[in-house]
Amino acid sequence: MGQDRRDFLKLSTLATGALLFSGTNNNLFANNIRTNMKSSKLKLKFYPYTLQLKHVFTLAKSSRTTTPVVLTELEYDGIIGYGEASMPPYLGESQESAQAFLAKLDMEQFTNPMEIDKIISYVDSVTMGNTAAKASVDIALHDLVGKILGHPLYKIWGLEKSKTPYTSFTIGIDKPDVVRQKVKEAEEFKVLKIKLGRDTDKEMIETIRSVTDKPLTADANQGWKDKHLALDMIEYLKENGALYIEQPMDKNNLDDHAWLSERSPIPVLADEACQRLVDIPKIYQAYNGINIKLMKCTGVKESYKMIILARALNLKVMLGCMTETSCAISAASHLSPLVDWADLDGALLINNDIFDGTKIIDGKVVLSDKPGFGLTKI
Ligand code: MG
Repeated sequence: MGQDRRDFLKLSTLATGALLFSGTNNNLFANNIRTNMKSSKLKLKFYPYTLQLKHVFTLAKSSRTTTPVVLTELEYDGIIGYGEASMPPYLGESQESAQAFLAKLDMEQFTNPMEIDKIISYVDSVTMGNTAAKASVDIALHDLVGKILGHPLYKIWGLEKSKTPYTSFTIGIDKPDVVRQKVKEAEEFKVLKIKLGRDTDKEMIETIRSVTDKPLTADANQGWKDKHLALDMIEYLKENGALYIEQPMDKNNLDDHAWLSERSPIPVLADEACQRLVDIPKIYQAYNGINIKLMKCTGVKESYKMIILARALNLKVMLGCMTETSCAISAASHLSPLVDWADLDGALLINNDIFDGTKIIDGKVVLSDKPGFGLTKI
């Protein structure tokens, strides 16, 4: 090991402390690292990958058997951080749009990966939208920084590993015999998430209740059209053990959601209506909580800010996901000690995961102690 490398490792340990107590010292340590590693540049690689779903996934407004993703690698001085953009078609991004966005980025202008704020602000400024593509860079950068510092992100953020929540396991809309089969497959999970929003909602709940009495969470994905009927359904769901309801009606319908949130016996959470940090001030009076997803909000950096703002506004917080490999799921999971509920089952719904990282053990989110997000490529 050369002298420069030893100096760098010493500085890395100091920089961990700086990150924990963020402020001007952080820049001081970051500058020291830059002095020692000024010859390196950030290098971004990316490639498409298609996730194969174990079951046809049916939501209120769509059905599919695959999910397109783009995987990223951000390299610095021989260390690689992994990232992922997951793009279910209804959100408007695609492998083509994500790769076109990533090709526009000039990451080599950065010679110090510790300057996370500066790098993420640049990535966000290049175009509007492209939130999943942006998240793939944010995830790779945080993974890289964790690896450089030699610590898992949850430790760098000062969070307690034991406080990770149980994750719900999603049961998509399907015929009763398939739903019963899915519930059996979900035996290790303590909470089931039920996709609703069609005219078969009560049938779905009855089918599930015929095989299990586990607590449920429900997601109507904007499928309900009338606030009175929505309230009736929520009261029915409460009687059937539901903990909360996600996005009952159209995301643009703030007034009816405000009406509903005031009367609902369980928290009403905004999902489609709350994408990024700037959305929270617009919607917080109409909901009891929000569902944060890395792919909607550009990654862990903004997710962290959203959690802090939501807490200040007395909102419940859940952390959700798309169908994703264990790469993006592991990234989200390092924030999970901060939230009320997690729905981080995305990697369990596919049969071609190519990362090992955060595990779900007996339904609980279990973080790896390896550096970064604890990712290993399978
Ligand atoms: Mg949802």
